[in-house]
Amino acid sequence: MAEPSIFTRIIAREVPATIVFETDRVIAFNDIAPQAPVHIIVTPKTERYRDVVELAAGDSELLAELVSTARTLADEHADGEFRLVFNTGASAGQTVFHVHAHVLAGGLGEGTLGSE
Ligand code: AMP
Repeated sequence: MAEPSIFTRIIAREVPATIVFETDRVIAFNDIAPQAPVHIIVTPKTERYRDVVELAAGDSELLAELVSTARTLADEHADGEFRLVFNTGASAGQTVFHVHAHVLAGGLGEGTLGSE
């Protein structure tokens, strides 16, 4: 068996995190290295899907739940507007291969895609 992902260990409360939202299928917690005033990771509790492409093909309802969770979090933690990022593949910056969305909000620069 492969090692559990860091996010699975957060879900199991083996690794501490500031959990801000949780349902039966989804969990959200503050990113440990925030790139924006609000930077929350939203991820399914299952680590069956490596990335958003696999998730979209395998469980589109769960993908929709991640998006609606992002909306809820942006309402609660910012002004309701947000950037949703799914890094997909190592060369695109993905480091945790347990599908997750970055919810970035709270005063982002205009017209930029990255944080710099
Ligand atoms: P990615 O690079 O798209 O795979 O995103 C992984 C994200 O997980 C990065 O932004 C990390 O800062 C974040 N991260 C890694 N470990 C933890 C942790 N223990 N608690 C919260 N966020 C984490």
